[in-house]
Amino acid sequence: MPLARPVVLGNWKMNGLKADGLALVGRLAARAAHPSGTLGVFPPATLIGPVAQRLSASRILVGGQDCHQAESGAYTGSISAAMLADAGATAVLVGHSERRHGLGEDDALIKAKAEAALAQGLLVVLCIGETEAEYLAGERDLVLTRQLDHGLPEGATPENLVVAYEPVWAIGTGRTPSLDEISETHSRLRGLMAERLTGGAEVALLYGGSVKAENAADIMSLEAVDGALVGGASLDADGFWSIYTAGGGA
Ligand code: PEP
Repeated sequence: MPLARPVVLGNWKMNGLKADGLALVGRLAARAAHPSGTLGVFPPATLIGPVAQRLSASRILVGGQDCHQAESGAYTGSISAAMLADAGATAVLVGHSERRHGLGEDDALIKAKAEAALAQGLLVVLCIGETEAEYLAGERDLVLTRQLDHGLPEGATPENLVVAYEPVWAIGTGRTPSLDEISETHSRLRGLMAERLTGGAEVALLYGGSVKAENAADIMSLEAVDGALVGGASLDADGFWSIYTAGGGA
């Protein structure tokens, strides 16, 4: 079965120590241990174990923010998909712009990571998006098509893949594309997914980039938007919950 909508995922990035991370998910679990939609948190790797344990009686997802493409080996500082699963994660982000552009990850590497994650039974959240220069040059659609063509993992289905469209220039900036632009981009992505994957039209398509309680309802009410990937605003349990409910979650 495709994921229940809305799909609202919180990327904590490199934020959170054990006490605040556990308090945050405790507050979320108190709101809804069994959310009607799909609600997930992506804490730093150090907190996956404790957070997963704290949420073990709930249906709130816990995911990693990245994984290595290899199963194990001499990769100092890296974490494999098997290790994420072993720690209690059931999902992982791949291709986040802070890794594409901050750490030089390309589509081939992202695809390999996604396939490693699928092999471990993890839900893959594939992040794609154009830079501001690409946006201004009118290359958005070209970039997104290329990122899907080269980054979509083999074996992806609506049950094990989510695609998050995150314009790089909207992440952490307080700026977002217009609602018309988000709608147009998501409709186009829906068509691209349908062409590339059996059941591709059912893959959850999230918008990410400066989503907050104030704009969440407008963005998630767009027909082609199935939910949101939230960065900064996911660090506050009440704000994150408001975003989830603005998308129709309970
Ligand atoms: C993100 O990091 O994926 C993100 C969308 O960040 P923010 O919501 O802070 O823009």
